[in-house]
Amino acid sequence: MKIFLKKNSGAAGLRGLRGALARILPDCRPARIPGGLSVRISSPAGAGDALPRLENLPWVASAALSDYELCPLACARGPKTFSNPLDFTAARPVFIAGPCAVEEEEAYIASALALKAAGAQALRAAIFKPRSSPYAFQGLGWPGLRTIARAKKLTGLPLATEATDTRQVARLAGVCDVIQIGARNMRNYELLKEAARSGRAVLLKRGMRATLREWLLSAEYLLKYGAKKLVLCERGDSLSIPGRPRLDLEIMAAAKKLTGLPVLADPSHAARDRAVAAALAVKALRAGADGLLIEASLDPLTALIDGRQTVSIETFRLLAAKFPCKSRI
Ligand code: PEP
Ligand code: MN
Repeated sequence: MKIFLKKNSGAAGLRGLRGALARILPDCRPARIPGGLSVRISSPAGAGDALPRLENLPWVASAALSDYELCPLACARGPKTFSNPLDFTAARPVFIAGPCAVEEEEAYIASALALKAAGAQALRAAIFKPRSSPYAFQGLGWPGLRTIARAKKLTGLPLATEATDTRQVARLAGVCDVIQIGARNMRNYELLKEAARSGRAVLLKRGMRATLREWLLSAEYLLKYGAKKLVLCERGDSLSIPGRPRLDLEIMAAAKKLTGLPVLADPSHAARDRAVAAALAVKALRAGADGLLIEASLDPLTALIDGRQTVSIETFRLLAAKFPCKSRI
């Protein structure tokens, strides 16, 4: 942590800060840096409590944690700790594919089988959909659980499903292998805690316009509350400028470098168009994504939601075939 003093605080300010540090963080050994003090933090909990108290001191201009201090739990884990249900240790990227939402049962099963044959290692299996519009299809809800359980049995593939409410988590975790925290819920801390306690792997999307710091602190919640397997997913920001890249591949790379966790890209929601989604998928994999969470199905043209950005099985098959080996950041 670095603490900077106000310009006119002088030697008295420095003394005052040292005295306050001795009370607030008694074990720390502050070192002088230009303009203030640098302090090594041994526990994230201590740092979390100390920061607002230090910022509140009359001589302090600012206090900030470094990125490494922000994600000490995540940093302590390497990519090798994440194995089943998705194996990120293998040399090839992981593809989680399926329609945006589960709709009609037989159509979903047919897509699931076709996606497996085309190279998917896990299925998107959303039965609860958080939608910006209250009038849009919100997912099948619990009646869809039977459908995704059947797809899992028939394909043998693990399921990734989104939980939108703490009350859904335990029941979803009974069937699904990965609990997805969607962009809108990245800052829903009670949901993060519940997902972490589920015992299932958790996929955490970056919230729309969330900073790296906010994203990693949400990851930190998951690790603190017990998630043993965690994967991050960059999905872009909803406000995109036409012609500009719509996934933040820099944030994706930084998250990967800082945490050592696997980081996927979701090219679908950033694209809003299936040709753009396919192009973004290639770009993200070339930039070092550990895999994709991608909307793909047998019949995107009849989908109730997000059909526009859903790629065909053939497009998905070509994509998966193009990346048999992981490219590195
Ligand atoms: C999704 O993956 O189905 C989804 C709703 O995405 P996001 O949370 O990124 O909007
Ligand atoms: Mn979607």
